[in-house]
Amino acid sequence: MQRLVGNDAVARIFDRPEHRAERGSGAGIAVARMMSVAAFNDQIQQHRRGKKILPVQQALAEYHALSVEDYEGRSAKLELLQRTITTYLERSKTKEHREAVEQLSSEAGREPALKLGKLLRMARRHEAVYRRLLEVKARPDAVEQVRLLQRAHDEVLALTSAEQDDDLGLIGVGVLDWITQIAGKMITTGNAAQQHRLGEGDVDKLAEMAADDAVPDVTRNILRELLANRGIIDYRSGTPGTTLSSDPEGRKYTLKNLAGQPLGTPERLGSLAHELTHVSAGEAYENTPVLLLLRRNLGDDEIRDVVRQRSEVLDRLNALVDAHPGLDPQRVETIKWKLSYGGSGGKVETYAQNYLRAGKIDQPTYDALLRYENLAAPRSGVLVEFDTVLNQLLVWFHLWGIDQRSELYGFTLRAAERQRRERRG
Ligand SMILES: [Zn+2]
Repeated sequence: MQRLVGNDAVARIFDRPEHRAERGSGAGIAVARMMSVAAFNDQIQQHRRGKKILPVQQALAEYHALSVEDYEGRSAKLELLQRTITTYLERSKTKEHREAVEQLSSEAGREPALKLGKLLRMARRHEAVYRRLLEVKARPDAVEQVRLLQRAHDEVLALTSAEQDDDLGLIGVGVLDWITQIAGKMITTGNAAQQHRLGEGDVDKLAEMAADDAVPDVTRNILRELLANRGIIDYRSGTPGTTLSSDPEGRKYTLKNLAGQPLGTPERLGSLAHELTHVSAGEAYENTPVLLLLRRNLGDDEIRDVVRQRSEVLDRLNALVDAHPGLDPQRVETIKWKLSYGGSGGKVETYAQNYLRAGKIDQPTYDALLRYENLAAPRSGVLVEFDTVLNQLLVWFHLWGIDQRSELYGFTLRAAERQRRERRG
């Protein structure tokens, strides 16, 4: 054995009296560097023993019950032990075991298994992601590449939401960029077939949802309605949007969706359901190329009523999102942004101007649309973006695992179902 500082340290550890007792107990080499359960109990027995110290004793016993080579397991138990110690110091009024738990905490902090175990856990998480990325490089087909990258991105999001991991977080950002690059190339090279195939793959995913018993019936009915139009749509990559197709050779509608979205597949499938709802409304109401989400030929008062009712629904949803417990802040922000988008002003007018400029509508249609804008001000968004947003929320809520019994989910289901009946009626 070389005389190194580290060896000295190890020798000192093994020589400490509380550890000596554990040697020769059949385990061969002495391994426990942490205080034993017996030694800890000895220390705290000098005081009155309250209930608050029990979790610390329990965590220490669980740590010692593990095999020495189980670095990942031991690391997790050391973290648990440190949490129980913090809780003890926060909650115990007398803190009579302060000295003993502080010694334990310091030993836990120095235990090599703490860091090595963490590193092994991290390596395992990273390995799965790295493998997927190498798989992407080996695929010749751009559509398959994007799908694999979307999966890798979802995996990174799940891992980083479960545990802070800055390296993986950066990988996630890179993967998102990679997806955007490949999809962008499909657009710049005008590869319509690839874009269509990519879009159809996501439509298939919504079809799986429509067939899934775990999805609320209201959502499944809506998805079936949306999917009925899947064959009259050309799918393209790009900023989400739906228009009547200008290509006489093409299908009736052109629907764009973004392949790379920050919150991954749930966000992407939500925006797809949103766009498919525009198609559904276009088919149901045949109400101008702007795809207004209401019956044609409504009177002024009827339009005002629609705007008022829908605005109330959006306001209520806003309040329910705030009151919903445990929602991830990024999701809250995404929902709120979408709700404000659904109720924003000037939207019908903006659409009308763009369409007029592009020669997609004539002046009388433009004038008719301006009437809608004026009647709905300042929230004309609800006339083009209401059913769309509700259906989008239903897809998110399911894929995010929001509690179906919550008021937020229930209210959204009821509002979306009312709109489905409207479109059908
Ligand atoms: Zn929209």
